[in-house]
Amino acid sequence: MDLLKQKVADDGVVIDEKILKVDGFLNHQIDAKLMHSVGQTFYEQFKEEGITKILTIEASGIAPAIMAALHFDVPCLFAKKAKPSTLTQDVYQASIHSFTKNTTSTVIVSNEFLNEDDRVLIIDDFLANGDASLGLNEIVEQAQAKTVGVGIVIEKSFQPGRERLEQAGLTVSSLCKVASLKGNEVTFVGDEA
Ligand code: 5GP
Repeated sequence: MDLLKQKVADDGVVIDEKILKVDGFLNHQIDAKLMHSVGQTFYEQFKEEGITKILTIEASGIAPAIMAALHFDVPCLFAKKAKPSTLTQDVYQASIHSFTKNTTSTVIVSNEFLNEDDRVLIIDDFLANGDASLGLNEIVEQAQAKTVGVGIVIEKSFQPGRERLEQAGLTVSSLCKVASLKGNEVTFVGDEA
């Protein structure tokens, strides 16, 4: 995904050594054409896996997830941040710590939309410590469905997310790997001095 890497290099704003802002094409304004090719790349990588559902978390995972769903021709399901009134017996739920907000919230998926026959591709915009993807995988396990893989748009390789997901037995595929965020510079894996 050279196009994605170029976009991150050109439009990404380094907030600090751990956080990259990509509001110009992913997290606020969305570059639909770029997201379309992101979805296509995930499709090429996982098309032999019998994926029946794409699972993400609101809100920033939805753009890449829906484009992946379009290519796989399967539904896109997103975990919702729960309000106490939405917590019923009919939901799968997980507690997820937000890396950017430093808060923990319960996310839910209705049991109407996920079951033991599902083969799930989890998609998210960023991979940092891996809590979001691990929480989504917990929901898949509650449904006795199978997580086939985790597709990430931007992986921050200097954080432990990939290691934690792989330790949990998950296959991780990321389209762009950031090695470091320093000063105003985004350095990619493979391009380090
Ligand atoms: P994790 O759960 O892997 O620690 O963090 C992933 C989640 O946190 C993603 O859903 C994403 O929304 C958010 N996130 C993590 N790191 C960044 C970052 O550098 N920039 C932005 N915009 N979001 C991030």
